[in-house]
Amino acid sequence: MSMFYKWGAGRSPDHPVITEAYDEYLVTEDGTEIVDAAAGAAVVNLGHSLDGVAEVMSKQADRVAYVSTSHFTSPPVESLAEKLAGMAPGTLDNAFLVNSGSEAVETAIKLARDYHVARGNEAKETVIGRWQSYHGATLGALSASGNTGRRSIYKPLMADWPKLPPAYPFRWDHDGSPEEQAKAAAGELESLIKREGPETVAAFIAEPVSGSSIPAAHPHPAYYQEIRRICDAHDVLFIADEVMVGFGRTGERFACDHFDVVPDLMALGKGITAGYAPISATMVADHVVEALEAADHSFYHGHTFSGNPVSAAVADHVVDRYTDSLIESACARGNSLLAGLDPLAGSPIVGDVRGIGLMVGVEFVADTETNEPFDPDENVARRVYDHALDDGVYVYPGGGSVDGQAGDHLLLVPPLTVGEDAVDRIARTVVDSVDAVAGELGY
Ligand code: PLP
Repeated sequence: MSMFYKWGAGRSPDHPVITEAYDEYLVTEDGTEIVDAAAGAAVVNLGHSLDGVAEVMSKQADRVAYVSTSHFTSPPVESLAEKLAGMAPGTLDNAFLVNSGSEAVETAIKLARDYHVARGNEAKETVIGRWQSYHGATLGALSASGNTGRRSIYKPLMADWPKLPPAYPFRWDHDGSPEEQAKAAAGELESLIKREGPETVAAFIAEPVSGSSIPAAHPHPAYYQEIRRICDAHDVLFIADEVMVGFGRTGERFACDHFDVVPDLMALGKGITAGYAPISATMVADHVVEALEAADHSFYHGHTFSGNPVSAAVADHVVDRYTDSLIESACARGNSLLAGLDPLAGSPIVGDVRGIGLMVGVEFVADTETNEPFDPDENVARRVYDHALDDGVYVYPGGGSVDGQAGDHLLLVPPLTVGEDAVDRIARTVVDSVDAVAGELGY
């Protein structure tokens, strides 16, 4: 294997080689089974043995595998767009299909700019994001992201857009009830817009429930209701990045549904095909499309593989599987997982365990009195990851949630179809692995 492939795919020589997978299990080349408590990267929401995908792919490849969306459309694209419009809240009825979560975010950012230009507001060009957020690896999406570790080396190449503190109730120092704290935190957006000059701000982007950077952190609904009010007051579009949390992960079809808020643009990816093919979508509200049409403004944007019929056919097959009853049972599994993690409340290195739907975040602290994070050089999350993997459970570790450097955590996002036995196993393994690492650290 060439070095280039190793770098490009993030592969290192000690990565296990997965030769098979079924349900919530990965199987290595030597036959070892690993419980996939991360659903890949919060992608394989329907497990590794979804029925009918191979048939859908091969039928579509036989019929028509590619047409340029600049000039043609195809039945799976039309069907998928209609289904997504039916699922998405409010008037997010217009789907722009691309290939990855990053591209869906890029599309939303560019569309926000087009919207303002079409309405004669040329100066609106700034996209406000939040610290400790992740919206994708491409330069526009990364400019809007606040994940220090993934940004720092590329800073000279990125747009210098301002950032709001994250929606991170565990570490807020606002006073009052959760609702009052949420309003105070959201109010910082208004101050920032005013400082920047509202006539220059095009959009605000956020993960409604935080994913890999501050796993499962979510504020009181008043936060997003206030965000919505502020965006409307200053003619700023609200972009919800639901790439990780869309399609039932948090217990509602879309995370925004928890907060009773409809964004102007919504980025979808990952679960849209549950990992069976690459495709993503930007859902666009009617008023955005109408503004472009009224100005006869074309959106010059797209990728060669946008709306690939084979991927669209897979997505068209997959999105039907996110039924209300699946989402309900996934929530029950999420509750079991949280209950199984109860012993972590007594751990000297765990500051917070939070969950929403089937999405759980475990945050490590060096001191449970002060919630001071560990020195990143201790590699606490990575050590827990290693222990868990040795015990046959794959979890999603991360760092930097507190200040971009410190703040170790785990994200647990097994497939929504995970069985109760596997949930027990995940919880027991995480508890044991955290105990083992606490011991190693001398607690
Ligand atoms: N947005 C969020 C919230 C994500 O979690 C990710 C990926 O992890 C992305 C965007 C980027 O998606 P992709 O890696 O498919 O480009």
